[in-house]
Amino acid sequence: MASAPRGAGGAGRQASQSGRPRTPAGRTRLTAERLATEYPGAAPDLCELDFTDPWQLLVATVLSAQTTDERVNSVTPALFKRFSSPFEMAEASPDDVEDIIRPTGFFRVKAKTLVSLAQAVSERFGGRVPASIEELVSLPGVGRKTANVVLSVAFGVPGLPVDTHVSRLSRLLGLTTNTDPNKIEADLCAALAPKEWGALSLRLILHGRRVCIANRPRCADCLLADFCPSAQLPTGAAGLRAAGTARGARLV
Ligand code: SF4
Repeated sequence: MASAPRGAGGAGRQASQSGRPRTPAGRTRLTAERLATEYPGAAPDLCELDFTDPWQLLVATVLSAQTTDERVNSVTPALFKRFSSPFEMAEASPDDVEDIIRPTGFFRVKAKTLVSLAQAVSERFGGRVPASIEELVSLPGVGRKTANVVLSVAFGVPGLPVDTHVSRLSRLLGLTTNTDPNKIEADLCAALAPKEWGALSLRLILHGRRVCIANRPRCADCLLADFCPSAQLPTGAAGLRAAGTARGARLV
């Protein structure tokens, strides 16, 4: 479960001590360093989905498509009470699953996916979620993003999930120029030690939800504003001082 950010970032508080990085890799490393101070903890602490084992996290991640983690967390206790293992869900009628997961939206497709997923995990992996990306993406409804969530959060295996927040913030911050999630993943991973991959993804997600909100970013409260090439900050001397930059930030 993720902890709350430790107060507003405050661009002025975050005047860079290491200078403005000039390369995407440098910006990635500074982003990771700054966000770790704002959103402390390891990947399992930063994940906002409730789970007790890799199977529950896999199910919760599938359910999280097009909805909020809060909504997923509101249905998973009943779902795992009714179907307590992949074997039980594999025997379920999709109708029974639909009734429980309805609040998460797209419930018919998600119910069919979950039953197929449970059957595959039961039949091919003896009821245990596999811990390699190749095996995970071979499962129904599991793409690279979901696989990387399960790897990095449930298994402690390096993985960097690229969701809509990670994709959006990575481009805003100049960490990558790519739009393809696989290429974004490769760019970010290349700049960091593998042990940092999962936590950076989760921290970018939290920052995207709380500060760098789509279409209304709170740049004045952002601890990355002094080097973010997309920062929208007050103009004039006071604004530049608040941004902690020599030249101010560029609107893009
Ligand atoms: S666009 Fe604004 S809120 Fe988003 S990362 Fe840059 S400075 Fe922060």
